[in-house]
Amino acid sequence: MKNFLSRDEIDESRFEVGQCSKHGFFIAAQRTPVGWSYVSGCPGCESETKARRIFGQSMIPLRFRDKTFDNYLIENSGQYAAVKSCKAFVTSVCDNPLGGNNLVLVGKQGTGKTHLACSSMNAVVRKSYLTVRYATVEKILTKLKSTWTDNTASEYEVIERFARVDLLTIDEIGTYRSISVRDKDKMFELINERYERKKPTIFVSNLDLTGENSMESYLEERSFDRICEDVQVVFFEWESYRRKP
Ligand SMILES: [Zn+2]
Repeated sequence: MKNFLSRDEIDESRFEVGQCSKHGFFIAAQRTPVGWSYVSGCPGCESETKARRIFGQSMIPLRFRDKTFDNYLIENSGQYAAVKSCKAFVTSVCDNPLGGNNLVLVGKQGTGKTHLACSSMNAVVRKSYLTVRYATVEKILTKLKSTWTDNTASEYEVIERFARVDLLTIDEIGTYRSISVRDKDKMFELINERYERKKPTIFVSNLDLTGENSMESYLEERSFDRICEDVQVVFFEWESYRRKP
């Protein structure tokens, strides 16, 4: 049933009409054989509250909070194809949140990769209210290292927090240069944990996919293999927006 109707579409012998100043008329109660059954309030406001709660815990940077597919500037066919791929990824995640599919966005700095990663998370929240979280590699590693001195959470718990989110974005793969063998092990633990739970992840990097100085060499083959098992890769091959005159 539609959430919002014009008032004369609602059969008032069976339904009680509610009105929200923002969303309009809605069905506030329904007659049942044993009496009236009330809904908790405007479904539109309820959905917004739910989405707000998820966004509140998403750690999406303020700059990217309001990024959507609609406010992504499309000026060439590559950008058009990138949006299309991200939208297809959103549909597959919403249809099957435990499908274990990944999205990899690679290309130069300033080409809008983080914008589209955040647009995808935004769309997933609004469509399906799945939980989302954004983190850079540096943030993940810093959080893990903070457990050495701060014992409110163990490393395992930190990994668990990133592993249990329905859709995680790991950004800036390669930007944090000093990645040690131990860091790579920890990144593998997280990627493998999500892989085993069949949770979808968005990976964002300004490195090449394979070869020298690539995502594969940065994260190591074992992590890269997990990522590639079910993946859609989008290459951002145009010039930086930020460098435009
Ligand atoms: Zn409302």
